[in-house]
Amino acid sequence: MKSMIFNNAIILEGEEFEITRGYLVVEDGVITEIGEGKTPKKRAIDVKRGYVVPSFTNAHVHLGDGIAQDIGAYEPIEKRVGKESIKFKILKRNIIPGIKASLKEMISSGTTSFCDFREGGVEGIKKLKGCLTPLHEAVILGRPDGDPIQSVLNESNGIGISSISSYNETELKKISTAVKSSGKLLAIHAGEVRDDLEEALKLEPDFLVHLTNVNEESLELVFSKNLPVVLCPRANAMLGVGIPPIKEILSNTLAAFGTDNVMVNSLNMLREMEFAFKIIRGLSKDYRFNGERILKAATLNGRRVLGLEDNAIKEGAKADFLIFHNRKYIYDPIIAILHRFEIKDIRALVKGSKCIKRY
Ligand SMILES: [Zn+2]
Repeated sequence: MKSMIFNNAIILEGEEFEITRGYLVVEDGVITEIGEGKTPKKRAIDVKRGYVVPSFTNAHVHLGDGIAQDIGAYEPIEKRVGKESIKFKILKRNIIPGIKASLKEMISSGTTSFCDFREGGVEGIKKLKGCLTPLHEAVILGRPDGDPIQSVLNESNGIGISSISSYNETELKKISTAVKSSGKLLAIHAGEVRDDLEEALKLEPDFLVHLTNVNEESLELVFSKNLPVVLCPRANAMLGVGIPPIKEILSNTLAAFGTDNVMVNSLNMLREMEFAFKIIRGLSKDYRFNGERILKAATLNGRRVLGLEDNAIKEGAKADFLIFHNRKYIYDPIIAILHRFEIKDIRALVKGSKCIKRY
């Protein structure tokens, strides 16, 4: 049996991130014991009052355009990621090195699971699959791009529709019906530039991505259906299309964060959290808005939206967590994670029986 013992830890335990000062035991990739105080067990790693936190889930990315970071940064969204845009010219190149570099960057910044809207049909999905390592848990949503829908579904976790305007009504219906009968996921970019919620909701998606430019009525409709939403505030800001109503969405439905196109935005979930947290507090003038909700959106919620097993830190759960270095003078670990810690403060990543350490 392979076991790892982390001693002298401050553990953000369970769904509510309750603080336990003690130790944590992982056996064969599963958390078997969380206890208070110091463990007398031998071979324990002293994490020096480090914070044990669930790993991040990046609930919306496009890794394929990672070879062209910030290309066309001063061009409008249509020229960067629309039909016949710079992005699609880039995707014709050899994208594999960019995907590999992005996957590496995700692990070093504490993200173990992600959802990719993969372009390029079956071939595109295979390219990403070929780059994955045992540390990555990928939910790949493909798109037909000339291939039969069923072939794309056979290779993927479902379909990620780029935009309502990419297909006609008959094609959309065909896609939606095929995904529903396969039992896989259907997601769609919606309300990024204009409010197209009415058409998007007709497809009965499992979750929506963006909701940056939507009216109150559309938002109410999403909330009444309890439809999960993935927010990409930094990418929206970078593309100059607006800022989604983050506080309202986080308060009314299951919401997670994604960093979107690697071409447009970095994969760093620490930065995504800080941006979202401060935008909410700054725009709403609500200084009481609790940071725990942001951390939850970047960790546990993402996995719930994607239908993955929970990675809350509790006995019996699969190990999927980070250990942040503790610094002097920190009074609130969650706030510190949201806006003080950097990638270099992640001292260990534990996924199943694997542990990457920087001690
Ligand atoms: Zn996207």
